[in-house]
Amino acid sequence: METVKPGDTITTGTSIRVGDLVILVEVSPNQFVQKAISEEEAALYSGPKYRVYGTESRMTESEWLGSVRLDEMLGFLHSKWIERKQISRKLRLFAVACCRPIRHWLSDERSIRAVEVAEAYADGLMNQEELTIAYDAAHDAATAASQAAHSCATPHAWLAAYFACSSALYSAIEAMGSSVSSTWHRRSTDTLRDIFGNPFRPLPPRPEVIAPLAEQIYAGAWDQMPILGEWLQEHGYWSEGEHCLDPNIHHVKGCWVVDWVTGRE
Ligand SMILES: [Zn+2]
Repeated sequence: METVKPGDTITTGTSIRVGDLVILVEVSPNQFVQKAISEEEAALYSGPKYRVYGTESRMTESEWLGSVRLDEMLGFLHSKWIERKQISRKLRLFAVACCRPIRHWLSDERSIRAVEVAEAYADGLMNQEELTIAYDAAHDAATAASQAAHSCATPHAWLAAYFACSSALYSAIEAMGSSVSSTWHRRSTDTLRDIFGNPFRPLPPRPEVIAPLAEQIYAGAWDQMPILGEWLQEHGYWSEGEHCLDPNIHHVKGCWVVDWVTGRE
């Protein structure tokens, strides 16, 4: 098995290890496919090149805050939190958030369902079996947008995060051309920061008294974010409130401030 570092280019078909899972990466002009396979199977494949994120990565705080490299950021999170199961929920919500912008390119009901089930699974509203059913049902779809939706529901949260975003980018490039690429990288890494916040700064104890408002926001009342932001700043949570009040941030389900106030991880 090849040992990879973040940013390495590997031959398609090379097996890589992510956590305890062996995966195979395949790429063709119109498709992006990944699957979990055995090491013996992996040895049989060869093909074109694709860059992957690895399992070890170091970043400084300023690199994290300014990065537009999703592979580096996921690699860093992986190194930092590989032992923490709770991170799976946030990774899954990131995968879902990556699929939202391409929803109108999903023509197949099974693809749309896979994204919805993935979100419900992240919130503990559906079980592993229901996730697997949605994943299997969405399996045959061949477009990049459908691959993104399919990846959302993959059982492994790290793969969901990486491949849903990568396939969504392919989908956007198919529809709008390669010029969309830099915008997409900025958008997806901003979304990752919205969900994971600043891993270098520990959060203070959460203000439970304002949790009911944050719960409403989590349920969809995103227009209430400025009210939460003002409350937080009035009560001494300056940077947390600033995040809520920043008009340039597009908040998604899993936003670190809302998760912090509601006590979610
Ligand atoms: Zn946010």
